[in-house]
Amino acid sequence: MTDPQALDRAACAARDTADPLAPLREQFDLPAGVNYLDGNSLGVLPRATAARVQDVVTQEWGQGLIRSWNSAGWIDLPRRVGDKIGRLVGAAPGELVVADSTSVNLFKVLSAAARIAQADDPARRVIVSERSNFPTDLYIAESVAAQHGMVLELHDIDAIPARLASGAGSDVAVLMLTQVNYRSGRMADMAAVTAQAHAAGALMLWDLAHSAGAVPVDLNGANADFAVGCGYKYLNGGPGAPAFCWAHPRHAERFWQPLSGWMGHAAPFVFEPGYRPAPGMQRYLCGTPPVIGASALECGVDAMLAAEPLGGMAALRTKSVALSELFIALVRQHLAGSGLTIHTPLDAAQRGSQVSLGVPADGSIDGYAVMQALIARGVIGDYRAGDGTAAEPHLLRFGFTPLYTRFVDVFDAIQALAEVLARGEWREARFMAKAAVT
Ligand SMILES: *Cc1c(COP(=O)(O)O)cnc(C)c1O
Repeated sequence: MTDPQALDRAACAARDTADPLAPLREQFDLPAGVNYLDGNSLGVLPRATAARVQDVVTQEWGQGLIRSWNSAGWIDLPRRVGDKIGRLVGAAPGELVVADSTSVNLFKVLSAAARIAQADDPARRVIVSERSNFPTDLYIAESVAAQHGMVLELHDIDAIPARLASGAGSDVAVLMLTQVNYRSGRMADMAAVTAQAHAAGALMLWDLAHSAGAVPVDLNGANADFAVGCGYKYLNGGPGAPAFCWAHPRHAERFWQPLSGWMGHAAPFVFEPGYRPAPGMQRYLCGTPPVIGASALECGVDAMLAAEPLGGMAALRTKSVALSELFIALVRQHLAGSGLTIHTPLDAAQRGSQVSLGVPADGSIDGYAVMQALIARGVIGDYRAGDGTAAEPHLLRFGFTPLYTRFVDVFDAIQALAEVLARGEWREARFMAKAAVT
């Protein structure tokens, strides 16, 4: 009998054998010899996708031509795939649409939030976000703030409650946060933070780029105001997959979003000269839907929904936590003297589905080269530079995607990392990487 607490490879293999979610991995076409721990950056290829895309291209486009807008349901894709994603993030049918990129969707919903806030209370002129939010979110917020005569204010995540509390938040229009930070993997409590924003009279906008398909999300349950998310990370929609946006029904029809394109018109095929917004979230569409990309995204979302009979996102979350707990335990066991630190909250409730390791601030390890050496061994995570201090270290990021990551994958990754460090393989990798760019 294998000891369930043991951390050897046999124990990990036994956990895989006992894992009721293990068969879900069969849905994906994973390259041989690759241990992929970067699904938080670009998800893997579902087996169904290639055939589906081929059918869309050769049959629906090639044979059906323009008839396919109706006969193949192309025109309904933004809503149909949106409803499926809605099941993963607590949005009701019709509340969430697939369109554009995350950046563009953020522009649309943040602009709408700014207009609502300004209409309700012109004294609210501040958009608040986290300093270490993903840069595109901050760049978009900068632009929205400038267009609405507002200011963007950035704070450390722990300083935000005080910025909102006891009257201090009376000038705040919108709090815009990514629920799971892309660097640290730290996860905010969506319901609690939304309640703090609302108590201050501010609107709450969530970026779910590292949440959708990674952790259970309940937008309506948390009473959030707006949300956006990404199709090519945990949803496995493929590179550049369309993204999604959501507005609470109380806001969906209050204003136009600024990108008033024809697909968001109440009657796009009447070809009127004037804009009339479509009812509900349909108005958050802009131009023609990306049919091939949205069809590929649907395959990724379907692969995730295949977990529903096995317990759905709750069961996936349980496995994700088990994977990250195992990773942390193995880091402590095998990398204790390495100088690498755990830069992700140790409390699983505050952690998304990734663990980031901090590279020592003294420069004794070149994190970029370590990741190159790992990749050369077939273990794919990624490297994100910080400012190199203990507070914002350079990071090695490892994403755990419970649809296909196995316990043995976690074990093997730590073994490889320990060997790369012990043997100094990264020094060679650094030399090779530098040579490659010259
Ligand atoms: C990945 C990610 C994005 C991606 O935006 P694109 O418009 O798809 O390039 C945006 N925001 C966050 C927080 C992300 O993690």
